[in-house]
Parts: sequence; structure tokens; C-alpha cells
Amino acid sequence: MNGTGNASGPRLLVVEDEEATRRPLVAYLRRLDYWIEEAGTAEEALRHWDGDRPDVILLDLGLPDRDGVEVIRRVRREAATPIIILSARGEERDRIVGLDAGADDYLSKPFSVAELSARIRAVLRRAGGAAASGDGKLRLGPVELDPVRRSVLVAGNRVRLTPHEYQLLEVLLSNKGRVVTRERILRTVWGLAYSDASAYVHVYVGRLRKKLAEGGAGEIAERLFTTETGIGYRVADEESLREPRPI
Ligand code: CA
Repeated sequence: MNGTGNASGPRLLVVEDEEATRRPLVAYLRRLDYWIEEAGTAEEALRHWDGDRPDVILLDLGLPDRDGVEVIRRVRREAATPIIILSARGEERDRIVGLDAGADDYLSKPFSVAELSARIRAVLRRAGGAAASGDGKLRLGPVELDPVRRSVLVAGNRVRLTPHEYQLLEVLLSNKGRVVTRERILRTVWGLAYSDASAYVHVYVGRLRKKLAEGGAGEIAERLFTTETGIGYRVADEESLREPRPI
């Protein structure tokens, strides 16, 4: 399937086997001036990936030939191109596996096209700016983490974190504008494999938010990383912090 060549915006690859979903989605995105390639199978998706190197991939996980997660793994071996999962009911587990394999975000069907459009803009912003600033520090809103000194400042004030809290903050700030799964946090911070220890993460995130709030972030602390029920945490980026709270 050929993309539209006249649009000047970012190039999206829409991977979705159900025409009833894909057609209106593609029509909507074209009106927003995105340049679109379409694929109905994992094979087609990978062919477009190899040939066109799109800027963003919208990926249905339930594809007729192969698991969409395989597409994510392949793309991630080669590039950091943003991937947004479009997942149906009954694919909750796949969604987590997909995020864990390196997808940036997900939307559950049925989703609003306005929401999708906001998520596409967010992943494009992330792709446009490196995770760390030139000095290697990680910043989000009033929070600044210095990996060399292993120190954390909130609005210029030093905040003391335990080693686990520090690592937790580091993994979150390294993923601005993305969704990070609890499993990934568990593995990165505690070195645990998939397990029931996810209550840990919840407790530690609560403590971390409290320390950041008391350290000077105030109510912004609640908005730095928001809970995605059953999945993990959505990390804000500078622009989403400035926007009014999403409904
Ligand atoms: Ca499907």
C-alpha cells in the first residue's frame, strides 16, 4: 500500500489489519497532514520499516501473521522510533509485553482520535529531544537528577533519597513522555523478574512523590508520573506539565 506523497508532516506507519478501524483512522490522520503508510500484517509493517523508516509507528498487536510484539522487538534493535500500541480488549497482557519490549505508549480500543493525536505529538516531542540534556542531567519540571553526583535537586534544594528511590527516579526521568511498566521498574531497580512484587513499586512511587512534593515540587509532584492502572506509570514531559490536566 502506498503512502500519500503530498503531505508534509511527520511520517506515520499505521499497522492495523481491521479495515473498519484503519480506514477512518488513516483518513483522520491525513487531514492532520501526516504522511501515512499503511500495513495490514507484520510482514508488511516490517517491509515499510525497512524501506521507509517512518517517524512514528501506530501498531495493532493482534495481527494475522505474527505477533505485533515481534515488530516492536525488530524496530527496537535498530532504532528508537516512537511506537504507540493500539490494543483491543483481551490484549492487556500483550500490551504490557509490548511496552516492556520498548513501545512508548498505548491506547485501548476504542480510543478517541483526539487522544491519539495528542499522544502522537507527545512521542514526537520526545523523539525530538534527547532524554538527557547536554550536561548529562535528567530534568523534569522542578526536578533535576545528576547521575554523576547521584544527587537530586527540587527547585534548587537538595532532596535526600534512598538508593532505591534514586534509581526509581532515574528510570522514570529517563523515560519522559513514555509509559514505563511496573515490570520494567522492578527489573531495573530491584533486579527482580516478573513477580508479584509490584506492590513494592506502588509504595516506593508514593514515597518518592511525597519527598519531591515536600522538597519543593508541591502539587506538581503528583503530575510528574501518573499511575496507569494495571500497567505502570506515564511520565510527563515539559510540555504536558504546562498543559492543563488531561481529563
Ligand atoms: Ca487486529
